[in-house]
Amino acid sequence: MSNPATLKAAILVVSTTASKDPSADSSGGVLNEVFEAEGAGKWEVTEVKIVGDEVLDIQRAITGWADKENAVNVIVSTGGTGFATHDITPEAVTPLLHKQAPGLVHGMLAASLEVTPFALMSRPVAGVRNKTLIITLPGSPKGAKENLQSILKLLPHACQQAAGADSRTLHAGGVKKLEKDAGVRASSSHQSHSHSHDHSHGHSHGHGHNHGHAMPVRHTAPDENLRSNDPALGPTRRNRSSPYPMLSVDEALKLIKQHTPAPAVVSAKVDGSLVGSVLAADVSASEAVPAYRASIVDGYAVIAPEAGASSKGTFPVASISHATPGEIPELKPGQIARITTGAPLPPGATSVVMVEDTVLKTMTDDDKEEKDVEILAEGVKDGENVREVGSDIKKGEVILRKGEEVSAMGGELGLLASVGKAEVTVYKKPIIGVLSTGDEIVEHSRPGDLRLGEVRDCNRPTILSAVRGWGFEALDLGIAKDTPGALEEILRDALRKVDVIITSGGVSMGELDLLKPTIERSLGGTIHFGRVSMKPGKPTTFATVPVKNNAGERVSKVIFSLPGNPVSAIVTFHLFVLPSLHHLSGVSPAGLPKVLATLDHDFRLDPQRAEYHRTIVMMGRDGVLHASSTGGQRSSRVGSLKSANALLCLPTGKEPLKKGDQIEALLMGKVRSEFDVL
Ligand code: AMP
Ligand code: MG
Repeated sequence: MSNPATLKAAILVVSTTASKDPSADSSGGVLNEVFEAEGAGKWEVTEVKIVGDEVLDIQRAITGWADKENAVNVIVSTGGTGFATHDITPEAVTPLLHKQAPGLVHGMLAASLEVTPFALMSRPVAGVRNKTLIITLPGSPKGAKENLQSILKLLPHACQQAAGADSRTLHAGGVKKLEKDAGVRASSSHQSHSHSHDHSHGHSHGHGHNHGHAMPVRHTAPDENLRSNDPALGPTRRNRSSPYPMLSVDEALKLIKQHTPAPAVVSAKVDGSLVGSVLAADVSASEAVPAYRASIVDGYAVIAPEAGASSKGTFPVASISHATPGEIPELKPGQIARITTGAPLPPGATSVVMVEDTVLKTMTDDDKEEKDVEILAEGVKDGENVREVGSDIKKGEVILRKGEEVSAMGGELGLLASVGKAEVTVYKKPIIGVLSTGDEIVEHSRPGDLRLGEVRDCNRPTILSAVRGWGFEALDLGIAKDTPGALEEILRDALRKVDVIITSGGVSMGELDLLKPTIERSLGGTIHFGRVSMKPGKPTTFATVPVKNNAGERVSKVIFSLPGNPVSAIVTFHLFVLPSLHHLSGVSPAGLPKVLATLDHDFRLDPQRAEYHRTIVMMGRDGVLHASSTGGQRSSRVGSLKSANALLCLPTGKEPLKKGDQIEALLMGKVRSEFDVL
């Protein structure tokens, strides 16, 4: 049983080496000793954990300790605060902090600077999450120890405050009393540490190291650079206009191309599941087609005569070659062999004479078989009516090239099958999770009338079907409530299972719009864009989140947060998500195919934003593609999508486009034709 008066500490060792071999860690033990030996009996280390240099692992450990009831009072991490590429502890911890504690950071840095100028190479952060103080210490045992020592005496006070102790009681008696209780004293310098190991330094040399050196000065905590709202601050502190720059559609597409991870390469069986996959390597024929000399007609295999001699004459039918595997006796001069289309030529035969060029002369005694057949053809040449070995496909020839897609039409599968390819190298097709968000959203199929404020989930069934319709595997992630914790949990879980998450809703400017803050602040993701100048779909958001895959490698996963309005969601799916799915699976060109269509009527333009107008594109009797609107284009009116097979790309402008103008359209579905008969 732990004494309720003692403070609980957790130690998180961040080291990829130590996570594989715990015996490689010494900092964890050193910190434990500091708490025990120098903590004035106030501390009990209740948790120790070792994780690799992985954002999500660090975050999981910290939230595991700080987000429960009776959480630990302090979490100190050691490691990952330097400048090496794998050092990401501050980046992992910062988004978790509800309050920053720059004073502690300053105190630690000031103390270590007295020991070594290399203290500047540490990038500590400190702050409070819920009721827990979190401090990131350097990874070296010496550095970690000195940093902890420099602030240890002040920690109980900070922890009591963070845990909600009444601050008036806590501060009764003034600063002097606090200093005395904590066993620290003010000095002429700014710091109030009094660690035991370097009293010999005294404070006489002051902060000389501060003078004459140009030191980088930062006036804001890194946290302040996150653009999303901090949901903990509530509606009064939210941004009142979007802090995300407004990008053009082309700029957004460029960022998608740039930040969508490169496709993974896998080996796949040659069967129907290959349809839609793109080859990641050239495929060459391991066998020749045909594999043997085969007849291309029904007739008689013959030995072509020497030049000048006649091929006519009556010959005995010495053997029969059907298109079945097996041994065939050799054909001798003066003999012929009956042969069917596709059957192998008997050894010794050079050519085939069509049955039409022959006459049956005599039969066997039982009348059941041919005995002698007359060849009527003159001038039969070597190789006549024969498909030579490898004449369709040579052994070793490249039959399909890297980057080619296996279509449902069957041509590519047919080629692979003909040469006996059982496996090929392809780009792995991503798995896509689809999530709806919103407290008001209910299952589309929920029986009964809607209560006031309820909205049936239209986006999830639509996007799931679009994802599958484009040939990708989709996972239904359900509906998330508008609470940060719920959303974070669903997204974290989904990041383990899928390569791409598509959410809808929660990206507008309301206080319950949690997607951006959750991605940025809780998952440590990067939002590449959060606003696009287009109609519909302005708040479309594209982010990537670093995670570890099953093989332990760091990879980045993609999150698209689409607007909640059903039309915006499906339009932005086609415009932005599809190209990303194509990049991820090696499909090129990425995205919807573009055609030129002639307007069937005038179209009004928006002066500010490019519009993606739901349109029916139809091949006219004049041989030209025609575009006509599906009607009312409000982004909540999902009926405007029914029977639309294209998005007409309307530019910005003041004057309407005229009937007969030619405009680009993106094809989402089959083009109908006025030539079609019912
Ligand atoms: P939001 O961006 O969450 O504010 O959503 C914008 C609008 O879209 C609101 O009117 C939502 O009710 C609506 N909406 C959000 N998600 C869905 C959904 N899955 N199905 C239908 N409507 C939705
Ligand atoms: Mg919402």
